[in-house]
Amino acid sequence: MEYVSNHASKGTIRVLQLYPRDMNIYGDWGNALVLQQRIRWHGYTPELLEYNVDDEFPDDVDIILGGGGQDSGQLIIQDDLQARGPMLRDMAEDGTPMLVICGLYQLFGRFFKTSSGTIIPGIGILDVETHGSSERLIGNVTLDSPEFGEVLGYENHSGQTTLGPSVRPLGMVSKGAGNNSKDGHEGARYRNVVASYLHGSLLPKNPAIADFLIRTAAERKYGTFLPGHPDDGFAMLAREHAARRPR
Ligand code: GLN
Repeated sequence: MEYVSNHASKGTIRVLQLYPRDMNIYGDWGNALVLQQRIRWHGYTPELLEYNVDDEFPDDVDIILGGGGQDSGQLIIQDDLQARGPMLRDMAEDGTPMLVICGLYQLFGRFFKTSSGTIIPGIGILDVETHGSSERLIGNVTLDSPEFGEVLGYENHSGQTTLGPSVRPLGMVSKGAGNNSKDGHEGARYRNVVASYLHGSLLPKNPAIADFLIRTAAERKYGTFLPGHPDDGFAMLAREHAARRPR
């Protein structure tokens, strides 16, 4: 049920989804819809924006989202992403909250070398590198995150990502593979950037991450975050359902 506020909006929060035309699989656009609804529930006014290759980059973006994609989608966006790289790096260093999933997680890192040997350069916001493998990591994932508790989602990737010293993992998997088939790490955290392999989409089942992005955006823009009254009923049902799924 929608929470209807009788109060005036606490302010606008602008959410930009990067490259939804080419990088949006397994429901990643759902992350934007969750932010839109939760921003409303918190009493702010959401604005959803899209940025695709060759578009004009909008001003005054408060939250950046990026989704996953096939290797072919990553090749399509690579030149445009390189051109936007310095600006996105400045935004990340400045503390803009960002959530990047799978294919864009890889390209926010140093590079993705595909399983056929093609090197797709990243923009180096995250100290991570990814090597494609013939083994795809597919299935449901549960991880324990020190910041967000139990995080649930679904992975499907050939890339195996390893973290450098200047990022920390989002968490450690208790089900599934995560970043690679070796070290149990899932995702990466750096400044206010959250990176993860998890689709599903991620935010409908993990409202703690959604609220982190919203709170950070509001505090940066308005100096403080005044939470509202989100309705977590469906999120809790989705979490219970996801937690019961086999790998
Ligand atoms: N193409 C990349 C890989 O296979 C990313 C996949 C994805 O975004 N789901 O690793």
